[in-house]
Amino acid sequence: MSRKIWSKRSLAAQAMGKIDAQTRAVVPPIHVATTFIRYEDNGYSSGFSYGRPDNETTREAENMLAMLEEARAGALLFASGMAAATAVFHALSPGDHVVASKVMYWALRAWLLTEATRWGLRVDFAETDDLAKLKEAVKPGVTKLVWIETPSNPLWTITDIAAAAEIARAAGAKLAVDSTCASPIHTRPLDLGADIVMHAATKVLNGHSDVVAGALCAREDDAFWNRIKNVRRSQGGILGPFEAYLLMRGMRTLHIRQERQSASAMALAERLSSHPLVARVLYPGLAQHPGHDIAARQMDGGFGYMLSIQVTGGEAAAIRTAAAVELYKRATSLGGVESLIEHRASIEGVGSPCPPDLLRLSTGIEDIDDLYADLDNALRAGHASA
Ligand code: PLP
Repeated sequence: MSRKIWSKRSLAAQAMGKIDAQTRAVVPPIHVATTFIRYEDNGYSSGFSYGRPDNETTREAENMLAMLEEARAGALLFASGMAAATAVFHALSPGDHVVASKVMYWALRAWLLTEATRWGLRVDFAETDDLAKLKEAVKPGVTKLVWIETPSNPLWTITDIAAAAEIARAAGAKLAVDSTCASPIHTRPLDLGADIVMHAATKVLNGHSDVVAGALCAREDDAFWNRIKNVRRSQGGILGPFEAYLLMRGMRTLHIRQERQSASAMALAERLSSHPLVARVLYPGLAQHPGHDIAARQMDGGFGYMLSIQVTGGEAAAIRTAAAVELYKRATSLGGVESLIEHRASIEGVGSPCPPDLLRLSTGIEDIDDLYADLDNALRAGHASA
């Protein structure tokens, strides 16, 4: 029996199944041209005129992400996650009020506190995992955007997306969700009522630590989405074709990487919970995590590849532990096939809610017993040399 509607997993594996018309190649060519010939009527009926507003390879990667996120209005790719996130704020007007999660990617928080406020946005931060606090921070008729990140970096707090969407809508605001750490495999924020989803595509979407990219997806092709499109077109933040090609190649294996990485993160979280040198494990998959019940409702198939541990012995022991790993790579970023460890407080600086004894772990696809053994050895070494 023929099946006409293929699953997202099948469509992603084949990068939407596009075959090159001229050669019948199963991998479409990378389109590098920056300019296109006008037709005799002086128009551009091919739909392409110049490389800054648009690119065919970038469009193909956007179609694939829009399919994964079930984004009716489509997706836009940017040169980085920050370029994608800031395009949303640039689509607002000076004087507009914004509420953002207190626990969020630190560089975006810093940008909101400095550049966005210089440009005239009014920004308040709220513990958005507490809906009463979110409600209190949102000003009906005044707040234009609520920005949440869930699970949120680096404490992995969980915000209830459907409830946040209700609060935003009742106040006349849009809801945007940084879903980098959930990925479209575990959560579809648009389906839960969000207006915009943002990804640092640098992370698990690409998955190989070799592309810097960002993405936005939208539910409605409305005035706000068109403002965002105009921001990208005019400011030139589009992702280049080579990166778009690599990102598409990465997304072909997103399902299997994400499933494996989340399963390993869960197993590590459980094993580390009873480690004598670990004071606390922060992971929404653990029943004792304060956001677990909401995460279980809004995440399917796993709780993500990110977790953090707070080590006994404080900041010095945490830094010594990170120094002692052999298999984990001591580096910033997340979502790649290789596991990374990082002492976050020393990166995030003043104003960060990150405790000084916290180590952030990005789980890759290595052997789970090797990962645990490496952390166990490093924890012991980090405490022995005090
Ligand atoms: N959002 C999250 C959750 C991130 O972890 C990052 C980067 O680490 C970003 C956004 C920014 O992405 P990029 O580094 O691609 O600008």
